[in-house]
Amino acid sequence: MSIKEIGCCGAYCKTCKPFYTGTCKGCKIGYDTGDRDISKARCKIKICCIVKGYDSCADCPEIETCPAIMEFYGKNGYKYGKYQQATEFIREYGYEEFLKIANNWTNAYGKYK
Ligand code: SF4
Ligand code: SF4
Repeated sequence: MSIKEIGCCGAYCKTCKPFYTGTCKGCKIGYDTGDRDISKARCKIKICCIVKGYDSCADCPEIETCPAIMEFYGKNGYKYGKYQQATEFIREYGYEEFLKIANNWTNAYGKYK
């Protein structure tokens, strides 16, 4: 399981190039071990999600009325819709099913069957 490598918003860090080439630390890696400090994080979605103890926003009962995540998903750009799709997939089918698909991607998002 690589739930740690699923970003709070639904971006999948494990198959994202900046993550595996080491130029990005990923969304959630290191906060649980103390290697990174959540008070220094800039992404308000990540801060909220990690402080509340969720694996991602997919676990949040307030997601449908959350302005932070809905504004993010509504941004211009293909990837934002794909991150929303990831979160919706996780809400419907769970993390395990998501990871079976996402581990075959070559980006932070990808195709579903
Ligand atoms: S935008 Fe925020 S929540 Fe999404 S992967 Fe990046 S840091 Fe994590
Ligand atoms: S309130 Fe919004 S940003 Fe915070 S965990 Fe829930 S969906 Fe994510």
